[in-house]
Amino acid sequence: MRLISARFGTTVAKWSQLPTAGIPEVAFVGRSNAGKSTAINALCQRKRLAFASKTPGRTQALNFFALGREDEPAAAYLVDTPGYGYAATPLAVRQSWNLLAGRYLAEHGALRGVVLVLDCRREVTALDHKLLEFVPVDLPLLVLMAKADKLGKSELGQTRRRIDQTLQALDRPSPLTMIVFSANTGQGLETAREHIERWLDH
Ligand code: GDP
Repeated sequence: MRLISARFGTTVAKWSQLPTAGIPEVAFVGRSNAGKSTAINALCQRKRLAFASKTPGRTQALNFFALGREDEPAAAYLVDTPGYGYAATPLAVRQSWNLLAGRYLAEHGALRGVVLVLDCRREVTALDHKLLEFVPVDLPLLVLMAKADKLGKSELGQTRRRIDQTLQALDRPSPLTMIVFSANTGQGLETAREHIERWLDH
């Protein structure tokens, strides 16, 4: 399954609109501004497949990008979930995140893995932890330390160790992989792409 075959599929604003055919899915999650849209676009070699809403935290829908041959129904989906943690997000919107995106992660059985995008200059926050509570413990997790071009080598090494410790402390039994990633320089791009493609192929 090639990520570069991605095209817009559908927007899901409520549970009843979710695909029911059990087509394999990989979800992308991350705080607003972490670099999630940029990462999706880079992985799919597209300029504007995913885009962050002008008002972060406003769009609470799930966006499904279809993979596979263009003249055939989707063979797999990449699913962009709304960014969380934007300070000005009204409580009602935050609750709707839990209701749709949270429930989707926890209960929609088609997921093969979850990609967590972290801005490498920030700590793993309480909100990231909260998000991870939705993700079933048997699902593999790929953590992209995004915007790696913004840190020097030694800073990056320190951050990497710190994030790694935090994530290991979660004690999830499923595979957890961390990739230092930059959409700007292409660092980690091919590795991440292959990793996700493997999830969808097996
Ligand atoms: P999202 O809210 O998580 O979808 O975040 P975006 O993808 O919209 O990125 C947020 C900001 O970070 C934008 O200004 C991007 O241009 C910037 N950004 C994203 N990825 C990178 C990266 O790899 N390197 C650098 N330097 N900036 C990035």
